[in-house]
Amino acid sequence: MSLLSVDQARERILSHFQPVTTETLPLAGCSNRVLAQNIAATSDLPPFNNSSMDGFAVRAADVLDASTASPRSLRVVADIPAGSHLTISLAPGEAARIMTGAPVPDSADAVIPVEDTNFDNRDAGTPAPDEVQIFKSAKSGANVRSRGMDLHAGEIVLSTGRVLKPQDLGLLAMLGFANVLVYHKPRIALFSSGDELLPVDAPLEEGKIRDSNSYTLAALIEEAGAEVVRLGVAKDDPDSVKALLEKAVELNVDLILSSAGVSVGAFDFVKQVIEANGTMDFWRVNMRPGKPVAFGEYKQILFIGLPGNPVSSFVGFEVFVRPTLQRLRGALNGDRQTIRVRCEEQIDSDGRESYLRAQIQEEAGNFIARLTGHQGSGNLHSLVQANALLIIPAGVKCVPAGQEVNAWLI
Ligand code: AMP
Ligand code: MG
Repeated sequence: MSLLSVDQARERILSHFQPVTTETLPLAGCSNRVLAQNIAATSDLPPFNNSSMDGFAVRAADVLDASTASPRSLRVVADIPAGSHLTISLAPGEAARIMTGAPVPDSADAVIPVEDTNFDNRDAGTPAPDEVQIFKSAKSGANVRSRGMDLHAGEIVLSTGRVLKPQDLGLLAMLGFANVLVYHKPRIALFSSGDELLPVDAPLEEGKIRDSNSYTLAALIEEAGAEVVRLGVAKDDPDSVKALLEKAVELNVDLILSSAGVSVGAFDFVKQVIEANGTMDFWRVNMRPGKPVAFGEYKQILFIGLPGNPVSSFVGFEVFVRPTLQRLRGALNGDRQTIRVRCEEQIDSDGRESYLRAQIQEEAGNFIARLTGHQGSGNLHSLVQANALLIIPAGVKCVPAGQEVNAWLI
């Protein structure tokens, strides 16, 4: 079997996943959740004409020729703080003191900022004056935020599949959505495998390393809006691997994600156990790093096996797991941002689709990319120093200095 391309492998994985079910949540719990309903505005916003300044509501026609040299004097007949509801009517020559956000009376059509009157620089609590001198004219509508200027009742303002951002929650609150229909968080079982792995709090021993992948991957899962169920570390023996897979089945997770044990080593039992109890769709992809990526199913639960090397598992997550989690949680806009960057130096590749660690800096309007150190797939520090992954397409063996490539910001 020839190796699958990255796109083929990703399509094959994604074709098996559907969005999870939905739930109704209080608005405060909806940050970074994915909307499962279209949101139609329940009212105009703003809902009433209101002042954008602290000042005086006036009839613009009354202050047409006002200036500092020749102020226009108006009688102050009302005081309108924010939150009040006054049904007053201004006659010619009259004004009302008004605060930011307070409703502008129908009979007024402009607000003169307090700075443009003789009532500037007053302490909080100062009562409204009986009379005010206006120093500037105003066009009709000046400093009035008119009803519906932001949006109109009935407009669809947020759509199904939207990953809710903080500002979206604010808009939902403005519109009175105390509860929102969102997708559940997909639940992802995660385990590492390898006899060499020590827990993070263990002193190093000869021949052993600490399990770092489970920390990187758990954080990536959570950042991508899913819930992680940590299953720990499987030993390099079939029974240990099987025990963890069984736990994942019991928990009925939406995806099993593992790292290591899916390559061609004599102790790579993960692949073998999956094959014996389910199906292995593929286990190699034409990419670098991260060629040993496995996809299959264990007792009806879909499984992605990432490589063991820390950079490979990160790249494998970005390429295959992130889009899978977005599909699972119903998201239409959760991908990494891609930008075009210029390579500072020549980059040699081996013809596989390659994901290279780079530091990108803006210089004179261009994004310039420099590789961060040795690109070996075990070198996590060079990933930590990077802020992007350069994507060198399959078939390309050399990117000359100065050429542009796509990059993911990480
Ligand atoms: P494997 O896929 O089992 O051949 O592992 C490939 C490489 O990744 C080996 O050098 C492992 O020691 C390393 N590795 C495997 N799992 C982890 C892990 N959880 N954290 C850090 N390194 C790992
Ligand atoms: Mg191993």
